[in-house]
Amino acid sequence: MRRVYLDHGATTPVRKEVIEAMMQVHSEVFGNPSSIHSFGRPARKLIEEAREKVAQAIGADPKEIIFTGSGTEADNIAIIGGARANQKKGKHLITTVVEHHAVLDAFKSLEKEGFEVTYLSVDGEGAVSVEEFQNALRDDTILVSVMHANNEVGTIQPVEEIGKICRERKILFHTDAVQTVGKVPVNVKEINCDFLALSGHKIYGPKGIGALYMRRGVRVQPLYHGGGQERKLRPGTENVANIVGLGVAIEHAVAEMPAESARLEKLRDRLIEGVLGSIEETRLNGPRTKRLPHNANISIEYIEGEALILSMDMKGMAVSSGSACTSGSLDPSHVLMAMGLTHTTAHGSLRMTLGHSTTDEDVDYVITELKPIVDKLRAMSPVWERFQKGLPIH
Ligand SMILES: *Cc1c(COP(=O)(O)O)cnc(C)c1O
Repeated sequence: MRRVYLDHGATTPVRKEVIEAMMQVHSEVFGNPSSIHSFGRPARKLIEEAREKVAQAIGADPKEIIFTGSGTEADNIAIIGGARANQKKGKHLITTVVEHHAVLDAFKSLEKEGFEVTYLSVDGEGAVSVEEFQNALRDDTILVSVMHANNEVGTIQPVEEIGKICRERKILFHTDAVQTVGKVPVNVKEINCDFLALSGHKIYGPKGIGALYMRRGVRVQPLYHGGGQERKLRPGTENVANIVGLGVAIEHAVAEMPAESARLEKLRDRLIEGVLGSIEETRLNGPRTKRLPHNANISIEYIEGEALILSMDMKGMAVSSGSACTSGSLDPSHVLMAMGLTHTTAHGSLRMTLGHSTTDEDVDYVITELKPIVDKLRAMSPVWERFQKGLPIH
């Protein structure tokens, strides 16, 4: 049976060049990067080379890059560390209702510490409004976090405008760019951000490695305590192999982006058109054009997303409902709900995220195989029967 991986938004396979570079570190460079002898020095050198690659990829200076254990950790250090370091100036924070849980839950924990958080709403396509953001600003606002692009529906947010306003008012601005690095251009100067989070395993690098960009001169309160590594913000002996892996991954991701994103965009559009065109009562979630090139999120009315995903899995197709973090729980996606979808429509939603391995044949396969699965599930659905008979549903 054909196997089609359409869950690159959840994680990506590790690319060959990354594995090779990491294997070499594991087998040949075991020294502690903090040791000044001939075993430690090569490890330090590899870390600093990787730091330059990450910096280069996002238009930063290497001194502004801190390696972390994940994208989640980078988000937490920026948000919690940034808020705590500035609480004498004010206790008001702003974020959005569609953030990844790494960001949302960091803000929730700050609320318990006495910070006040405004959660910006989104429109029907998942975008925040700059005007609503401006209205939310207060004299005591100290930190703002708006994701570069949404991981579920692919909406790209107006981060440049929000960043510019924050800079003018000397408010710290963090953006979670885990989904955009290697997909669309990411430049910290254009975004006007003070912090930016990225992650290795979404760009064909290893899991368990991320990086935080922290603009020169910005201070945060450390969340951990120990050695002096990573400017004391991520103490603990560095994961040299993962750091090297991230460096190689990001270098390739950015170099191949123009061609690869254009290729994925074409495949994505064909997938969307194929599904919407062949199955009735379906809709695209998120914007048609201002979205991540590899993301298709489609609601298929009158069926359960979980049943759909399992049926697709049995035919070799790996997709997700909402985000990987919320699937498995029965709550519908907080992003789709915020976009105004009903509970039932949100439940019947499918996220397909394309990547390196995705081919024209994969797209054809999904378009061909999805319809019979949907037909079968709908044939068993009492809601579909009501809909067919024209009876009220909600
Ligand atoms: C995957 C993801 C994260 C978390 O990154 P990890 O490295 O898995 O911790 C954060 N934000 C967004 C938008 C993501 O897609």
